[in-house]
Amino acid sequence: MSNSSKIDKKTNDSAAELFRLSLTRLGKLRLSITPVNYSLIYFYLSGDNLALNEKLDELFLDIEKWNDEKAEKLFNRYICNCKPDEKENEKLRQELLSTVANILGMLIDLGGKTAVSNESLEMHMEKLAVSKDPSEVLHIASNIISETRIFVDETKKFETTLSDISNVIETLKNELDDARRQATIDALTGLNNRRIFDDVLVTAINSSQSSQEPFCLLLLDIDKFKDINDNYGHIVGDKVLVGLSKVLRKHMRGSDYLCRYGGEEFAVVITETLITGAFTVAEKLRKSIENLRLKHVKTGQQIGQVTISIGVASYRNGESSIELVERCDSALYRAKSLGRNRTVIAD
Ligand code: GH3
Ligand code: MG
Ligand code: MG
Repeated sequence: MSNSSKIDKKTNDSAAELFRLSLTRLGKLRLSITPVNYSLIYFYLSGDNLALNEKLDELFLDIEKWNDEKAEKLFNRYICNCKPDEKENEKLRQELLSTVANILGMLIDLGGKTAVSNESLEMHMEKLAVSKDPSEVLHIASNIISETRIFVDETKKFETTLSDISNVIETLKNELDDARRQATIDALTGLNNRRIFDDVLVTAINSSQSSQEPFCLLLLDIDKFKDINDNYGHIVGDKVLVGLSKVLRKHMRGSDYLCRYGGEEFAVVITETLITGAFTVAEKLRKSIENLRLKHVKTGQQIGQVTISIGVASYRNGESSIELVERCDSALYRAKSLGRNRTVIAD
């Protein structure tokens, strides 16, 4: 704390600010809100009493030594007794009065929302108007401050409630985000699911139509997957699906969109790519799976080679998403009928 925090208390606004700062500072220093402590901090922050500030600066260095007795002594020496003559006494009274009036003003503004009732504030106001000496002003200040403490406690409770509510809202928001994410993710493979594929395809069509950039669709289907289930069981079949998904994912670029389209079928949207580029990608995917030699991790059981067939279609301007998928699916069907483990480009 230093004199740089000196506040001009000439205006009501700055006096109110000084009040607020004094309470905040008391809180930070973990000092109780007593009239003496409040006055010491108030005068310290106002910066008018250099001798007091020097003493307090020393004490702030070792705040543990702060106690009521010490505070009282400082108060008597530097606030009450340093200005003994009548004129100064009146100045001090006015100063305290204006501070307290500002506190009251603030509390009246907040009265409706706090534990401090307007009636009790008005009562204090009336007493202040007729008070003659600083100690009486301080006594009234003491009452106000103890009510202010209620107000501070209430405000804290209110803030705690608000923060509890915002925590609950934050948790609900995260749960909702999670639920949304879960709804678009395939539980087995962790890939995007069919649900948002249709949206992705429509978005790709719209952006291709406005930018005139080409894009392609790949439909992939595992060959004779039923045999894997039949020979090794459904659980092993699931593991094969997970393993192949990982391989496919590894080959994706940032703008590619891969999803599990159905049981043992996958779809890929490749943006800003001509059919030749898409065919190359498809072949890379097909070969990387063809080259795998699958083995059951736990049992060591050999599963051997798994292959996929792929249909590739380049988007034709004006075509609907259903038409595009149908064309691509026909190419996939042809790949199957031509003997599987191959890529066929759609007509
Ligand atoms: P084709 O080469 O003609 O595609 O033959 P296929 O056996 O792969 O095709 P078919 O459509 O006859 O069979 C697909 C199989 O995929 C049948 C189904 O039980 C299996 N399957 C689909 N989804 C899952 C899954 O989530 N887990 C497992 N283990 N099997 C699945
Ligand atoms: Mg299939
Ligand atoms: Mg299949």
